[in-house]
Formats: sequence, C-alpha cells, structure tokens
Amino acid sequence: MSEKRDLPRLLVISAHAADFCSRAGGVIIKYVKRGSPVRVVELSVGERGESDEVWLEQPGITLAQVQEIRKREAERAAAQMGAEIRFHNWLDHPLTMNEERLVALVEEIREMRADILLTHHHSDPLNVDHEYVAKAVTEACCLAQFQGLETRFPRTPSPALFFFEPTIPMTDLTGFKPNLYIDITDVFDLKMQALREFKSQSILPAAYERYALWRGSQAKTMSGNRNIQYAEAFEQYLPSVANEFPLSGRYYAISKYLNR
Ligand SMILES: [Zn+2]
Repeated sequence: MSEKRDLPRLLVISAHAADFCSRAGGVIIKYVKRGSPVRVVELSVGERGESDEVWLEQPGITLAQVQEIRKREAERAAAQMGAEIRFHNWLDHPLTMNEERLVALVEEIREMRADILLTHHHSDPLNVDHEYVAKAVTEACCLAQFQGLETRFPRTPSPALFFFEPTIPMTDLTGFKPNLYIDITDVFDLKMQALREFKSQSILPAAYERYALWRGSQAKTMSGNRNIQYAEAFEQYLPSVANEFPLSGRYYAISKYLNR
C-alpha cells in the first residue's frame, strides 16, 4: 500500500465562493503540501449575497454572468492552493437544505472517504446560509456511516468534524469557541495569493490578514512558540480521545515567553 493512501483525506464544504479559502486556506495548503488528498466542495458561489462588488460595478449583469465570474475566481484560488474543487451550483441566500441535498452531502463524504471535514460553525447569525450548511453537514457526517441509507457510494465512518471561523470580526458574538489552532505562518503568503483571486470580494485579504495575526498571537501565547505569526482557528465538534493529557494549551505569561 502506498504511503499516500494512509494520509488523511481532507474534505472542505463551503457555502459560498471564498469561504473555504478565507477561513481554512492555510490548512488546505498545508495538507496539499503533505500529499493528502484535498477536495473543496462549493455549494453555491455566493452569487446573490457575497458578490456585491460585481453587481455594483457592472450594472445590468445577469445572475448567470455573476455565477461564472465567481466560479472562475474560486477555481483559480483552488488551483493556486493545489486543491481539487467541485461545484453543486445551489443558489445562495437562502441556501436552504432538503433531503435531496442532504443525500448529496452524504455522497460527498462517502465518495471521498473523508477523514477530516471542515465546514461552517452552527451559529453564525450574520450569515444564516452558513448555519444551514453547518447543520446539514453535521447531519451528513452522521448519516454517512448508516448502512440503511443507500446512496451511490457505500457507507464510511464519519469524518472528524471541525468548524472554521464564522463571520469575522463578529465571531465573539456567535458562541464560536476555538479549541484547535493551526500555525499557518509557513504558508501564509500562499494563502493571501489565493485569496487575492477573489477580486469580487476585495476586502478579504486585508480582513483575514488581521484575523490570522490575531489568531497567531493567541496561538503564540498558548504555545510559547515565538515563531508563530499567523494561525487559523477551529472548533472540533466532538472531543478527541487520547491515552494522556495533551501538553499543548499552556498559558505563557509574557515575561516567561520572552525568556524562552
Ligand atoms: Zn459565506
């Protein structure tokens, strides 16, 4: 068996065009670099709710034309990151779910045999599409293991589910409580390069650079690793199981930190 088959398979389910890149772009690039299979699934391209710049700059543009622009942006970003991307073309706002869509999500998990799944947080009152997706993906993770649910692909174990940042900078108001920080300092420039492909959301690079610095500062304080500059934060849905306590998550007072 090749080594690559043993590497964890990462599935990222994104409500809108840029969500996967802005919130988890660093982690995606890290897994691609390690050789893991990484697939991004775009449920919509944010054509109605996250494409204001296109609508305002091109009066008279059609919905289909906006969709095409956003799709190309997402494809270019994914290509820069080295990730596979596929589109479901479900319209956004509202991005509501039904049984057919739920089965489609189960099939995404089963087809890839995903080990890790990244998606939106359950609470994101400023962008309810994200909440719809979070709830459906969580249910799909559970359904993926059931023999009784017949789909085009056989059942698989449920992947480990992690939620990425809700709408920034309002995450403090959503109940999002990150319990895993991943250092993305080494791939941060690549993430920004990919994020700049979303020309229809030109505020993203600056906004997410500020947030990555903030999360990086928290990660540095909790780890004592002064080399961390940028990080992405995640909330794991179910707790991890281990044989011993992790030694990460310490609090390093600044004076101690500076002396290390
Ligand atoms: Zn979104």
